[in-house]
Amino acid sequence: MKHIVITGASRGIGKAITEKLIKQNIRVTGTRRSSEFPPEFQMSELFSGVQVDLSDFNAIEKRLKPLFDSEGDLPEVLVNNAGIFQDADFEISDDDWLSVWDRTMNVNLRSAALLSKWFINAHLKNGSEGIIINVASRAAYRGDTQEYAAYAASKGGMAAFTKSIARDFSKKGIVAYTVAPGFIETDMAKESVEVLGAEALTKGSAFDEITQPEEVANLVAFLAKGEVKHMSGSTLHINGGSYMV
Ligand code: NAP
Repeated sequence: MKHIVITGASRGIGKAITEKLIKQNIRVTGTRRSSEFPPEFQMSELFSGVQVDLSDFNAIEKRLKPLFDSEGDLPEVLVNNAGIFQDADFEISDDDWLSVWDRTMNVNLRSAALLSKWFINAHLKNGSEGIIINVASRAAYRGDTQEYAAYAASKGGMAAFTKSIARDFSKKGIVAYTVAPGFIETDMAKESVEVLGAEALTKGSAFDEITQPEEVANLVAFLAKGEVKHMSGSTLHINGGSYMV
């Protein structure tokens, strides 16, 4: 593998994945929305950064579609990692509730699906092989609290989308996996502390401490090697044993 595209590379899990891949001498094209990339990425010859709001179709088409030009430097791996975790209590107005649903679906699911479509079509046209890794959540499997129902639904959709890709495209050389993290020590987990309290992070876990983003990066880097293609369509759960399947 020479070139990988990852969304949400500026912080948290995406940053840890990018660091890991750069150390392995792999070229990474990473995206961010509003925060800056870490200085070490900006200084690395292996890293290219793209600023894009994944809720904005026109921006995605303009800034990211060219990456999947089959005659260009087509990435072998796509990691759909960027995501948002917004709460919308069932008691708020329908308009406010639906605006959280729309934004969550657009960022977490619709943009990931569209990037996957472009990636797959380019590889099919080229006759080359590719790997898609979709970072969903344990919420896809165990649900979430009512405030985060939109988030759970978006991640459940992502897991089902991944299986659909695997069913139809594995034979043609495109494999796809879902990674389903539990609480991981990033800014996103801090947001849930504000809503659910700190004890929620390790409640029911097999460990006393929350999972580090580097462990998720290790898993993604392994899947990106393409050594377990017959796991296509599977979900890999990394959640501190908060549930076990
Ligand atoms: P994070 O620390 O909040 O980072 C989110 C990343 O996504 C940032 O790079 C951010 O860019 C980018 N992003 C957010 N909204 C975007 C938008 N509209 N357009 C473009 N980029 C956008 O989150 P994380 O914890 O690393 O989460 C990464 C993935 O893991 C997400 O899909 C999340 O759902 C999943 N996950 C996380 C946990 C957890 O406990 N942390 C648990 C389960 C699943 P900026 O830096 O520019 O804002």
